[in-house]
Amino acid sequence: MHEVSIAQSILDIAITECRKAEYKRINSISLRIGKVSGIKVQSLLFAFDIIKIDTIAHGASLLCEEGPVAGHCHECHNNFAVASELILACPECGGTRFSINGGRELDIVEIDVD
Ligand SMILES: [Zn+2]
Repeated sequence: MHEVSIAQSILDIAITECRKAEYKRINSISLRIGKVSGIKVQSLLFAFDIIKIDTIAHGASLLCEEGPVAGHCHECHNNFAVASELILACPECGGTRFSINGGRELDIVEIDVD
């Protein structure tokens, strides 16, 4: 279950940032998780709730928003973002020559601290 190690990295980054700025407590961590990242949000939340105990993030919640799948069409040179996980053609011109350049990421958008 690699969500545990992902949750651990998120927690480590948040704690490091929080300490660096001399704050004492983490209230929430906002994440953007790409739709095709392969990360199971439920597992991530579950893992985070366990590992946050006994840290300065013990009262923190993880706020997850889903990032769209983004691509670039080589036929009409349009950049597109779609809600579907499966892209068969460019939504603008219907072309099938395109590359996927977004949707696999996991970004920490914001860390709320006291
Ligand atoms: Zn196109």
